[in-house]
Amino acid sequence: MTRPLPRHEAGPPAEAQPEAQSEAQSEAQSQAQPEPVIRLVSVVKTYGTGEAAVQALRGVSLEVAERDYVAIMGASGSGKSTMMNIIGCLDVPSEGQFLIDGIDTSVLDEQQLATVRNRKLGFVFQAFNLIPRMTALGNVELPLSYAGLRGAERRLRAEAALQLVGLGQRLQAQPQQLSGGQQQRVAVARALVTAPSLILADEPTGNLDTRASADLMNVFDRLNAAGRTIVLITHEADVAAHAKRVIGVQDGHIVADRRVAEPSANPPLLRRAVDGTVRP
Ligand code: ADP
Ligand code: MG
Repeated sequence: MTRPLPRHEAGPPAEAQPEAQSEAQSEAQSQAQPEPVIRLVSVVKTYGTGEAAVQALRGVSLEVAERDYVAIMGASGSGKSTMMNIIGCLDVPSEGQFLIDGIDTSVLDEQQLATVRNRKLGFVFQAFNLIPRMTALGNVELPLSYAGLRGAERRLRAEAALQLVGLGQRLQAQPQQLSGGQQQRVAVARALVTAPSLILADEPTGNLDTRASADLMNVFDRLNAAGRTIVLITHEADVAAHAKRVIGVQDGHIVADRRVAEPSANPPLLRRAVDGTVRP
């Protein structure tokens, strides 16, 4: 967010009072217009160079507010995953700007981008990507180990996350002992256990049957109702029907943006779990 310069830098030295006013003003501004979680400004992404260059995104601008629930739809090759990878800080725009929680990611180095990924983002992929021969609990505890949490605390939070996705009874099961739908719910628990600002899912139901897809979408619905911001990619209309906003992508452009329900009004669950102040 760009804040006005403090008055003593912009002009003659000031007393405490104008300073206090400007703080009150920016407080009022931030209440009136909360920072979007995601802001893409005229993003272009080009892969390769010269004759081999492919323009996957051709000037995409998009804002997503906290607590929204967004489905991104479009044909194969339209640029959905490219957009998701940029939003997920896994790739950077060739041109344009990407801000997450008001932070301009173009000024961040690799290490800082990794920190943003760990603190602010939870990922769910089509292929589950669980570690085999490690229990559900172990898989969900992993991101907390990276965050430096101690054993007992990790366990408590991983258990709570698995309960949230309806797997409280399968803590000790290994991925190969679980159905595809259950494995994907473990992956969702792993994505949300660090209390990220944003949960990103790239075709999360792509490998699931109808029944397991519906179960998974019910989990996303509950997470959003509890205040989580969710952005998912799908090309299935019945999956997109769960979202509150549907964005259409075609040939690297946003061609549709339809609001179907208001964002959740609830404060996020597990919001500050990582710093220990809130419990599910
Ligand atoms: P979607 O997820 O909608 O199927 P993608 O974002 O994966 O689309 O791809 C958009 C376009 O960019 C496609 O033409 C694809 O071939 C191309 N593309 C994606 N990733 C790469 C890459 N790493 N190198 C070169 N071209 C790529
Ligand atoms: Mg894709």
